[in-house]
Amino acid sequence: MSYDLVVIGTGPGGYVCAIRAAQLGLKTAVVEKRKTHGGTCLNVGCIPSKALLHASHMFEDARDHFADLGIGVSAPSLDLKKMLSFKQEGVEGNTKGVEFLLKKNKIDAFIGTARIAAAGQVEVMSEDGSNQILETKNIVIATGSDVTRLPGIEIDEKVVVSSTGALELESVPKRLVVIGAGVIGLELGSVWRRLGSEVLVIEYLDRILPGMDGEVAKQFQRILGKQGFQFKLGAKVTKVERKGSGAALAVEAAAGGNAETIEADVVLVAVGRVPYTQGLGLDHIGVQIDNKGRILTDAHFATNVTGIYAIGDVIAGPMLAHKAEDEGVAVAEILAGKAGHVNYDVIPSVVYTFPEVASVGKSEEELKAAGIAYNAGKFPFTANGRAKVNRTTDGFVKILADAATDKVLGVHIVGPEAGNLIHEAAIAMEFGASSEDMARTCHAHPTLAEAVKEAAMAVEKRAIHM
Ligand code: NAD
Repeated sequence: MSYDLVVIGTGPGGYVCAIRAAQLGLKTAVVEKRKTHGGTCLNVGCIPSKALLHASHMFEDARDHFADLGIGVSAPSLDLKKMLSFKQEGVEGNTKGVEFLLKKNKIDAFIGTARIAAAGQVEVMSEDGSNQILETKNIVIATGSDVTRLPGIEIDEKVVVSSTGALELESVPKRLVVIGAGVIGLELGSVWRRLGSEVLVIEYLDRILPGMDGEVAKQFQRILGKQGFQFKLGAKVTKVERKGSGAALAVEAAAGGNAETIEADVVLVAVGRVPYTQGLGLDHIGVQIDNKGRILTDAHFATNVTGIYAIGDVIAGPMLAHKAEDEGVAVAEILAGKAGHVNYDVIPSVVYTFPEVASVGKSEEELKAAGIAYNAGKFPFTANGRAKVNRTTDGFVKILADAATDKVLGVHIVGPEAGNLIHEAAIAMEFGASSEDMARTCHAHPTLAEAVKEAAMAVEKRAIHM
């Protein structure tokens, strides 16, 4: 078998890369270890977690909010098994979709573990023990990432779970302790809280969602607190032991000190992810990695070995499916002789809780650290007609614009539909918009998006409804 391109891994980075390469006329193959395509995102990440976030949100709405709307229903009962199969059907629909797209684009898909035997040679080891070598001009490594483990804390995926096990709990835990107040902890914590768990989040830092704008994170923590989330910030878990059917955690201040014991029925470890390059043979062929285990690449996604490229979670940058997808498109275009490019200044990020949190561009902290003078415009959802009538008024939109040029440098939203609203800001920033451009763009009434327009107007202190 001889190819122009073999992509290792069919997560969002890998399969999108393969499709774009095939569109551009490259003879392309993919190698995937899982039996289904789509990687972590489709199988055990973004897609199943969104299914459970949707279902649990509906459950909570029916239980706690329908009556306010004049909808009388008896208290909803939870059929967790059915909810989990609803989630699984969503996963299957999506993974089969990728399989269909690969076929449609005439991409050869090999199921098996890939090892790079040499530049230009990918060895595929199938589950039945058979081996084959694919000859190829180029290789793109898109093997993604794995859960970060904490020393001495064993993940059994039953009582001490990673995000994977937290999508499969057989019953609603009475007490769920989440280690890590990042995206996974808050999203999956939300799912189980809505279904009835008491949720305590233990976070090493003195804030939640590190990396996100500080004001947004603070407000969001308050909102989650109102929903019933408990937080223990500036604390670390030093030990987790099985106790009865649950676990006992030893927790102390991040700086050290006396340990206290906290008991839980289930513990979710959500302290980040690490690049996954195991078994690829990178040592053997001399592909360089950095001290965080990430494959080193140049601006064109090329490693130090000719013909070997890498994208997505295995290289530097945010570990986000859409970042990997855009890198997949870019590297395919580069390999086809075009000018592939990713604008790392405009990569949106979203936390799919309720309300959602979304941001694009620089936070206030980043602008301050870089010494960039900026003006901030803020508009609360309490003053937005649509949010008011829907009674989803928690949160605000904040727009940060360069003080000298008015160019939009960052947009941060905590509020309903934040994950959709952020994209008008992303488009505006991609076109180099000023806050005035956003403020003078007509927005339909009554929409939540008007809050974005008003925040842009607030940069010049001329918001109308505030
Ligand atoms: P994260 O990096 O978002 O958060 C991890 C949190 O754990 C941080 O707040 C960190 O300070 C804390 N932490 C680290 N070590 C700790 C310790 N020993 N004790 C207590 N706290 C500790 O990681 P995550 O939530 O595990 O997510 C993993 C990756 O997956 C992230 O890169 C994330 O962007 C991505 N992801 C994205 C989405 C989304 O875009 N909606 C959803 C899920 C996951």
